[in-house]
Amino acid sequence: MRPTRHDLTDCPNLCGERILWTRTEYGERMAVDAEPDPAGNQACMRDGLGRWVSRSLTSPGALAPAKVEHTYKPHFRKGGCAALADVQLTLPGLPAVARPSRRRRARR
Ligand SMILES: [Zn+2]
Repeated sequence: MRPTRHDLTDCPNLCGERILWTRTEYGERMAVDAEPDPAGNQACMRDGLGRWVSRSLTSPGALAPAKVEHTYKPHFRKGGCAALADVQLTLPGLPAVARPSRRRRARR
């Protein structure tokens, strides 16, 4: 399945590409390129509620892509678009705020 143009958003890194936000099997956000790529390592599909979900094909025991899945490349990858900085998106008129690090949160 391919995303429609309504499923795509502009890359927050402002690289000029359109990207597809998906949820991984762990509930994390995963951005993939807009076009499927047979060399990709993410199997993506739209679930019954219309959400785009992805799963890694390189994790141990991962099944081959199903008929309803297409493979995509992660958008933020080595040699591609740089990883997103761990900073909240800037709102007009407000300075960017860095999130507390995970380590600090875990110590509490
Ligand atoms: Zn990008």
